[in-house]
Amino acid sequence: MIFNVGPLFAPQEARKELKQDIAVEVALPSNWEAAFVPCGVLRAKLTAVRMQNDVLVLLKNVSIAGEIECGKCFKKEVIELAWESSEQIFYAKKPKIWGEEEFFIDPSGYKINLTPFLQQEIAVHTPLIFEHSPEKCDPEVLQKLRATPKMEESTPFAELKNLLQIEKNTQKHKKSK
Ligand SMILES: [Zn+2]
Repeated sequence: MIFNVGPLFAPQEARKELKQDIAVEVALPSNWEAAFVPCGVLRAKLTAVRMQNDVLVLLKNVSIAGEIECGKCFKKEVIELAWESSEQIFYAKKPKIWGEEEFFIDPSGYKINLTPFLQQEIAVHTPLIFEHSPEKCDPEVLQKLRATPKMEESTPFAELKNLLQIEKNTQKHKKSK
């Protein structure tokens, strides 16, 4: 989403801040890593404030619907991510700060690209672990998972235990000879 902050830089400085309700689709980069995949628009109350030559963008009451996979049964569910506020400074010049390179005011017309900021905020607010409410979990998948051998049996300690057991048995075998 391209947002025009030009009015904040008008010679007469008529506007100290810009306010707008936004409802935008957030395109995702191909290397998107967060588990949450938007399937609706992002809604928020946006305020842009001029700070000398930079612009501070504040978002309030942010929400967006999207799909996320259940950590237990891997079935996808549509949830709404919602959080209170986010903020980001857009710099007058392309910053050299790592991870902030995308946050600058395009000098050819006082435009800022909000998309990388919105993507970042969605990723930050995606729950690390998501699980359905138990009654929604796919019982078939859960049963299959229960039927598969436990992880414990392939841990290094379990393998060590097996080796020791083999050793013991061979020793017993030798003694008995
Ligand atoms: Zn589930």
